[in-house]
Parts: sequence; structure tokens; C-alpha cells
Amino acid sequence: MVLTFNPDTVSVSSGHHIGGRFVDLPGEEIVVLRPSDGRPMGTITDGGAAAVDRAVAAAKDALARSGWAGMAPRDRAKILFAFAAKIEEKAEYLGRVEAMGSSRLISGTVTGDAVRTAGVVRYFAEYCDKLEGIVTATKAGTLSYTRRQPYGIAGAIVPWNFPMITAAWKFAPALAAGNAVVMKTSELTPHSLLALAECAAEAGLPAGLLNVVNGWGHTTGAAIVAHPEIGIISFTGSTQTGAAIMALAAHSGIKPVVLELGGKSPQIVTQNPGEMDAIATRVANAFMVNAGQVCTLASRLIVQRSVADELIDRVLAKTRAIKPGPTWDETTTFAPVISAKQFDRIDALVQQSVADGATVLTGASRLDGPNQGNFYAPTLLADVGRDTTGFIQEFFGPVMSVTPYDEIEEAIAEAQHPIYGLSASIHTQDLKLAMKVADAVEAGMVWVNQHGRDPEFTYTAGGWKGSGFGKDMGRAGIEEFTRQKAVWINTL
Ligand code: NAD
Repeated sequence: MVLTFNPDTVSVSSGHHIGGRFVDLPGEEIVVLRPSDGRPMGTITDGGAAAVDRAVAAAKDALARSGWAGMAPRDRAKILFAFAAKIEEKAEYLGRVEAMGSSRLISGTVTGDAVRTAGVVRYFAEYCDKLEGIVTATKAGTLSYTRRQPYGIAGAIVPWNFPMITAAWKFAPALAAGNAVVMKTSELTPHSLLALAECAAEAGLPAGLLNVVNGWGHTTGAAIVAHPEIGIISFTGSTQTGAAIMALAAHSGIKPVVLELGGKSPQIVTQNPGEMDAIATRVANAFMVNAGQVCTLASRLIVQRSVADELIDRVLAKTRAIKPGPTWDETTTFAPVISAKQFDRIDALVQQSVADGATVLTGASRLDGPNQGNFYAPTLLADVGRDTTGFIQEFFGPVMSVTPYDEIEEAIAEAQHPIYGLSASIHTQDLKLAMKVADAVEAGMVWVNQHGRDPEFTYTAGGWKGSGFGKDMGRAGIEEFTRQKAVWINTL
């Protein structure tokens, strides 16, 4: 299957997707650029409160007309299965749009992201008739039971790093639980989510159950959070924005928020005789994948001193073996960062780390090679002090610090972060040690002998501390979009 394509031949739709169709509304124009070459891909408008009001009205109307929340669960599932099938049918187009507009590589978007997005929809469709309550112990003549009910309209706001999959982690469980959805795309990568909303309409999802609005965070995003008829907000993005959303939700009628926020995740490597090359591949991939624009990015390597030099040499060799290039070329292995602004932010943080005393082992500059696009070189830093920028701040780029340790207690102490607690990993053959580290690290997700999620849908995603609270995916991921009701019946 040839995946490479000419981006100038792929067209995208740019309105808001409200009430089952594309709608143009007045608003500030936002030009969306392709990160691989900086050329325009399309335009959207900042919908603001007017677009959100219209989407909420469409959602309310759809819930009333379709009876979505009260529908037999298998019937709801049937419609979501059709939605998943439509996504698969259009996987090539969706994968191309994703690759054009984001840092995702075409080698992974058609057969990976698009198919996985369909899988997420199908996974939650299967939950439609498996949301159960309990009957509690009560005195004779009474019956008490709990049930899970939807919120009505769920609001969702997503970032740009995995635009389709992150969105599906929210709209699929919200819909399966019986809600309607009003969600905002990232202003940097709106088109693939808009195309997914079109798939939903084509598959027969009642019009108005999935609405996608475009715009800036402080206008359209804030209007979703503040809307009195939206019952819950599920957000993925930076810790700073998460805090603003939590405050706004508290001041606009009290509504629950699910916050999937930033990270500064450690990966610990112990002595592993005979395995170093395989480990170096995993370690290098864990900070270079998607050009480091992954919330769970392994940005801090903590390695046993006796193998540190060998591992670093092997990882450095892997950083030299990358093939940067346009995201629409199937031979590209290293992506650009999403925007010139994000490129400058990464570079400023790296230069600040150096000013604070960090030693550059490689990178710390624009990548030689592609003369267009925002390509930042894979960067390894040593001597990063715990109280400096390099340790504290999330870079969200292909940058990793390296710190040697002698005793595992030292490694555990080094792994703890003052702000973040999203994820951590340990590469070791010693299971006892692995379990000790898994117990001790302050993180919502831990991996042993890998770093980063597996495609399995059952693994819940979510952080601790400044990395947020609440879960995406797994059973917990759909339960977030339900609220529990306790019913008491007195039969006497
Ligand atoms: P961001 O916080 O700048 O923006 C995320 C979304 O929030 C965008 O759609 C933006 O328009 C919107 N937004 C911004 N300000 C808002 C406001 N005041 N009110 C409402 N909405 C607002 O994040 P980003 O730069 O798009 O994404 C990168 C960040 O996302 C990183 O910190 C990364 O770690 C995090 N992230 C976390 C996870 C996770 O699962 N924990 C996954 C992916 C990305």
C-alpha cells in the first residue's frame, strides 16, 4: 500500500460542524498551517459564544428528538458501530488530513490513528449495555439501587498532538453513555476532527449529538466551559489551561471537570545485560516519537551509572539515524513540531537550561536537513539541576535529560517531580525491583519494559498531581461521563 501523497490534492472542510452539517458563522479568521512546510491548509473562524450556543441548542434538540439517553442500549451501540465502520471506510482520507495538519506521520495515520479511532468508538459502543449499578443492602420492604445516567450535554476540549484519537477518547464514551457532545478542536489542527463529525453524520448518528466548534481557547473554549447547559467538561491540554478551566467551571454553576494535563515523565534504566540495544531503541523512541509532542513523553532518563555511557552512546546513534521530512512522505521517521511558536518555545527552554548549567550531548538547535517546516533536533541534556528550568518545565518537544544513579532509592527520589505525575517507566529484568518502583513513583500510569501506551483500549490514561485527575479510556473512561443516582423505594 503506497501511503505517500501530494498534500495539495487533499481538500478539507472548514465550517463548524453543528446539527449534523457544516455551518459557517461569522468570527475572526484563523489560518491553519501545515507544520511540515508552513503552507496554509485551510481556514477556520473563531466561533465564540454564538457558535457554542448554537451547538448547545442543536444538542438539546437532538437529545429530545432522538431519545438517545433512553434508547435501548443495543440500539445506541448499533449506531456507534456504524460510525466506527464509516471511519474505517474513510481511513485513507482521515489519515491524510491528520498527516497534513499535524505532526503525525502518514506511515502511522491511515493504518494507525484512523483505524484506532474507529476502534475507540467500537470499544465504547460495546459498553452501551454494560453500564451497571448495584442493589444495596436495606431493611425489608425497601429497595435501594444505584444507576448511572448521562449528564445530558458533555463539553470537550482537545489539543493538537493526536487530534483524532484524543478527541475519540472523549466523544466516544460520552455518546455511548447517552450524552450529546459539544467539543472544540485545537485551533492548530481542526480539520481531522471536523471530518470525523462528518463521518458520524454520514453513519446515521442523529444530527446534533456530536457538534464540533472551532476557535480560540479563551473565547470558544471558555464559552464551552462556562455554558450553563453543559453538564461536564472533559479537557486535555496543558496544566496551565487546565487550572483556568477548573476555576471557570467552579464559577459557572459548579460542574465536574476531567483534566488530562501535562507531564515530565521519567524512565529508569537498570543494568540489563545483553539487552542494551533493545532498551536504547525504546528509550530513544520514547523521547523522539511525534517529535516529543506526547504528554507521556519520557523527558527524563535516569540510568544506572555503570551502564550510563553505553546507553547514551547507543541513544546518540539512534538520534543520528532519523529521517526528518514531510509528514506526508511514508519514508519520514522524524516529525516537525506543530508550529513556529512551539519551536521557539522549545528552543528558549533548551537555551535557558544551558544557561542554568546543562551540558548539551546532542541537538539544542534547528535540525539540519529539511529547509522548511519546524524541525527541532533531538536533544539530549546532561547536568540538569532539579531546581532549574530543564527539570521543572514541560518542553513538549524532542528533549530528554540524562541523570545517572547508583542505588535504586536515588532513582526513585529523582523520578518524583514537584509538579507533574503523569507517567513513569522502568526498564529492568528484575520484576521485584520493577514492582518496587511502580509502587513508589507518583504517577497515574507506569510501564515496565516499555514507555508509552500500548494500543490496547482497556488501559486507563490519566495523571496525578499537576498532571490532572479523572480518566480517559478503559471502564473508568466511560464512567466519567455518567453520574450516579441512588434510588430508594419504600414498598410498605
Ligand atoms: P493548551 O492547553 O494550550 O490547549 C489545549 C486546548 O485548550 C486547545 O483546544 C485550546 O484552544 C484550549 N484552550 C486554551 N485556553 C483555554 C481556555 N482558557 N479555556 C478553554 N479552552 C482553552 O495545550 P496544547 O498546547 O494544545 O497541548 C499541549 C499540552 O497538552 C501539553 O501540556 C501536553 O502535555 C498536554 N496533553 C496532555 C495529555 C494527557 O492525556 N494528559 C494528552 C495530550 C496532550
